[in-house]
Amino acid sequence: MQVTAAVLEEYHRPLVVQELEIDEPRAGEVLVSMVASGVCHTDAIARDQDLPFPVPGVLGHEGAGVVEAVGEGVTKVSPGDKVVIGWPWCGGCRNCLAGKQRYCAQLGPLVAGGGRPDGTPALRRPDGTPVHSHFFGQSSFATRSITWERSVVKVADDAPIELLGPLACGLSTGAGAVFNALSPEAGSSIAIFGTGAVGLSALLAARERGCTRIIGIDRVPGRLSLATAFGATDTIDASSTDPVGAIRELTGGAGVDFSLECTGNVAVLRQAVDALAMPGVCGVIGGAPAGAEFTLDHFTVLWGRQVRGILGGESQSEKLIPALIDLQRLGRFPFDRMVEYFTLDEVNEAMDASARGEVLKPVLRMASA
Ligand SMILES: [Zn+2]
Ligand SMILES: [Zn+2]
Repeated sequence: MQVTAAVLEEYHRPLVVQELEIDEPRAGEVLVSMVASGVCHTDAIARDQDLPFPVPGVLGHEGAGVVEAVGEGVTKVSPGDKVVIGWPWCGGCRNCLAGKQRYCAQLGPLVAGGGRPDGTPALRRPDGTPVHSHFFGQSSFATRSITWERSVVKVADDAPIELLGPLACGLSTGAGAVFNALSPEAGSSIAIFGTGAVGLSALLAARERGCTRIIGIDRVPGRLSLATAFGATDTIDASSTDPVGAIRELTGGAGVDFSLECTGNVAVLRQAVDALAMPGVCGVIGGAPAGAEFTLDHFTVLWGRQVRGILGGESQSEKLIPALIDLQRLGRFPFDRMVEYFTLDEVNEAMDASARGEVLKPVLRMASA
């Protein structure tokens, strides 16, 4: 079967859109005709080799589309169903069995192994040369994708499917960090460092949870105005103001109950910890370059402050994605205001526009497969 896909041929280089062939779904697999795919920061991290995904290979991990065919034994979905493709998980390890699917013991090979667990990719060039697939179990920068039954989340027939891909990763990462991990009490204060798509999703969740002081920090003025529109009580432009001093001032010297580091910059992470009240929790959700390390003053931590890594919002896709769809429909999670559409051919422009901070959440619309 034919598929048009954006292939990472070489690290640090633009993706190349080309025609490939894709397998029929095997047992437990689902073939999805892609309608649209979000572009996430992690795609750029993989392109730049900070997350080791083999080349040539197809990136993309915020896919949404329509089930085209299912493999043997698949019962969760049937052809014609609309689905969002969530993170992969093995279903059998200690953490999966405990409901902590984001910390699946097989996560590394499932997201970046470049194929199925037996090593076979689902994609190949017309001459038969294999092309790595299954990035985050989906490789969604393509008009078709082979994924696992376990990863797909069925949505309503009338759901706006082309909009929903970003719920699979970036938006779940931000909102889930607040809903599932930080769980702030009503009346809490929170500072969100980086008000891109992930940070704004966290901001909306903080508002839902009753946070009454929500401080957005960024260097891009347009993002800060959207943060205000989404319910930030205060914003700080970090290009001209020291955020730690400003947060102390806003909180009468105390600092904030919670902070979230969404930028993947370890200097910003230090600020996010230093801005905490005691006790307080700093959630770390931004992906920094491979090997990045950070230092803290040990007294800062000793005085009851925690630094808490939170992977993918610690979400179960099956629970959080439908909840976010409902919140969006109710007008309480207006993530559609972050989305700008591109075509698959424009994938490199979309990634660059996101990196420059010009577009919050690019979504690639696929031409019909
Ligand atoms: Zn597992
Ligand atoms: Zn992602």
